[in-house]
Parts: sequence; C-alpha cells; structure tokens
Amino acid sequence: SYDEFYVKSVIRSLPDWPEPGVMFRDITPLFKDPKALRMVADGFIQRYMESDLTHIACIDARGFLIASIMAYQMQKPLVLVRKKGKLPGKTVHQEYQLEYGTSAVEMQIDAVGPGDRVLVFDDLIATGGTLLAACTLIKKLGAEVIECAALIDLPDLEGSVRIQETGIPVYTMLAYE
Ligand code: 5GP
Repeated sequence: SYDEFYVKSVIRSLPDWPEPGVMFRDITPLFKDPKALRMVADGFIQRYMESDLTHIACIDARGFLIASIMAYQMQKPLVLVRKKGKLPGKTVHQEYQLEYGTSAVEMQIDAVGPGDRVLVFDDLIATGGTLLAACTLIKKLGAEVIECAALIDLPDLEGSVRIQETGIPVYTMLAYE
C-alpha cells in the first residue's frame, strides 16, 4: 500500500541544478524502484478509476512515464502534449513564460475534441506555466479539462494555486517546501 515516506525517500534532491539556487527534485530513481513506482501509479489509478474522464493528456517528457501506466490500467486513450517541433502533422501551439524567455507546447489537432473530458498529467508543478499552457491547448481543441494532476507540488512557487484560480482542480501526491 501507499507509503509517502518511502516514495519521498526514493526521490532525489539535487542542489544548484540546472542552475545555481535551484533545488531540483529528481524523480529518475523512482523508475529504478519498482515498488515505489507501483505505489505512485496505483495511487493515481485509484483516484481516477471511478472518474468519468475520457482521455489522459500527459506532458513531455517525465509526465509520459506515469500517465502511460495509468492509461494502460484504466484502458483510456493517452494523448501527448509535447515541446515544440516534436509532433508531426497539424498541431495547435501555445507559448508560455519561463523565468528567462519563453517555451511552447503543442498537441495534434485530432488529439481531443468537443465532449471530451481530459485529465492533464505532469511529474511536477513549479510555476504552473507548463500545465496551464497544456490546458489552454485542450480548450482550444474544444475539450474540457477535468483536473490537473502531478506527482510533486512545489507550493512555494504557487503554481497549483494559479491553476486552481482558473477554475481547474489540481491534485498532487507530494509537496516539497
Ligand atoms: P512549471 O511550468 O510549473 O514552472 O514547471 C514544471 C515543469 O518543469 C514540469 O514539466 C517539470 O517536469 C519541470 N520541472 C521544473 N522543476 C522541476 C524539478 O525540480 N524536478 C522535476 N522533476 N521537474 C521539474
């Protein structure tokens, strides 16, 4: 069964990466630990098993890893939100602010559409900019975002509050102050 202390013990904190002053929460050890990975995936699956969601959208690249396990177990369609230039064919595009400069995410135009109820998943919420841009894309395609979910929240950066202020519920499993 789910053990928050155990999962947290598997996530590694790296000071000054990718730049000085940033404490990076590294989830790669989670994927080397089948017990911890199963706890996390089962936790999300349990939360959404009875939901009326129609699609799981996941964010490039660590968001893909857990969301694909959920989609497999829940037998739901998985759709990708990718960094710009990665997806072939017709796409919708949304830029967002980073601390320095901008970034952009894209989805294929047939990923979701009107009537779809989409859960949006990423590994971590910092400023919330990435998930908000993904939600904008999903709405552009005519679908509804039912919730944003992430393994980790960094509440000091207030990204989850920013997302909630747009009317979208947020669920995170762990917080790091
Ligand atoms: P935001 O857009 O909320 O500011 O940043 C979240 C995005 O940046 C996520 O896609 C996440 O993968 C990445 N990110 C930012 N900081 C961290 C971190 O400390 N650890 C991990 N694993 N990802 C991070």
